[in-house]
Amino acid sequence: MSKPSPEVYEEGKGMDAHNQAMREIRSRKDETYDPTEPTRVWLDEDNTPDGVYDSLTIILNTGGCRWARAGGCTMCGYVAESVDGGTVAHEDLMTQVEKCLDHEDENADEPAGQIKIYTSGSFLDEREVPAETRQAIAETFADRDRMVVESLPDFVDREKITDFTEHGIETDIAIGLETATDRVRHDCVNKYFDFSEFERAAEAARDCGAGIKAYLLMKPAFLSESEATEDMVRSVKRCAAVEGCHTVSMNPCNVQRHTMVEDLYFDDGYRPPWLWSVAEVLQRTADEDVIVVSDPVGHGSDRGPHNCGECDDRVQRAIKDFNLRQDPSVFEQVSCECELTWQTVRDREQSYSMPLTR
Ligand code: SF4
Ligand SMILES: [Zn+2]
Repeated sequence: MSKPSPEVYEEGKGMDAHNQAMREIRSRKDETYDPTEPTRVWLDEDNTPDGVYDSLTIILNTGGCRWARAGGCTMCGYVAESVDGGTVAHEDLMTQVEKCLDHEDENADEPAGQIKIYTSGSFLDEREVPAETRQAIAETFADRDRMVVESLPDFVDREKITDFTEHGIETDIAIGLETATDRVRHDCVNKYFDFSEFERAAEAARDCGAGIKAYLLMKPAFLSESEATEDMVRSVKRCAAVEGCHTVSMNPCNVQRHTMVEDLYFDDGYRPPWLWSVAEVLQRTADEDVIVVSDPVGHGSDRGPHNCGECDDRVQRAIKDFNLRQDPSVFEQVSCECELTWQTVRDREQSYSMPLTR
């Protein structure tokens, strides 16, 4: 791929054009949301450097991502879930946390060892979550073993991380890196930062004893199935080489509402990745010195990562199994006739003629 020239970032072109298009797409949403209700909360389990943990996963409803307001990433529908007006008050955010704790009380036998907090943006951005709220949340969960908070790399600094580590909580910062390739991150995902920013954030986390969890996006818009697969294999390897990055969560793109990916999907210009491709990346990176997991949201549906419809559940189960055991032999037990179609797509699909199949 050629290097981007400065003029592609001019007004009306490149990233600016992406942002203009995205603002128009997002302006079509008309839902409103209650600032005292979390966006979502659920219980699950996760593989961590200290073994498998029960997790309480919280998506706080904050004002929404700053970058999404400018236009945002091509696949991200989170902004359609955020609160009108931009900010949510400390008291409301704490009410959301209380409701999540109630959910845990009602559905779990004992408190989860790990708490994961996402927002519709960056938990460490003080415009979304004020310092006062961040500190109160750290105190609320001081008795848990591990916490994961999500943030764009710009907002990751020592002082904020110490709010958690000073309580003795093993803390991870989850960063939506999407890909280690700057060109793909900029032009296909429309995310503005460079890999070097991710490395800087990892260093800041490391300095105060925290870890990094990198989130990668399998098959952003405009990449063919094989380009997407190769990009993920390369990206996992580059993340594994960053000191402090102990986990990569490689997530297949799904078609979210009010996004550029959705427009492309309706215009026959986008198909989510095959689950076979996800399995291939997991197999090819299993020897890397990093935990690699994947959560194919919406698997088996048209809008989510899918195979032929017959084998989706089986492949999904193998992926879930791999997440907990990191053993690539789980994929030897699944096969289907559609692997031939998938291989043909991988060999023949070009970015000017995709998708070859639905
Ligand atoms: S993916 Fe993250 S950075 Fe991009 S618009 Fe969504 S919340 Fe913002
Ligand atoms: Zn199949």
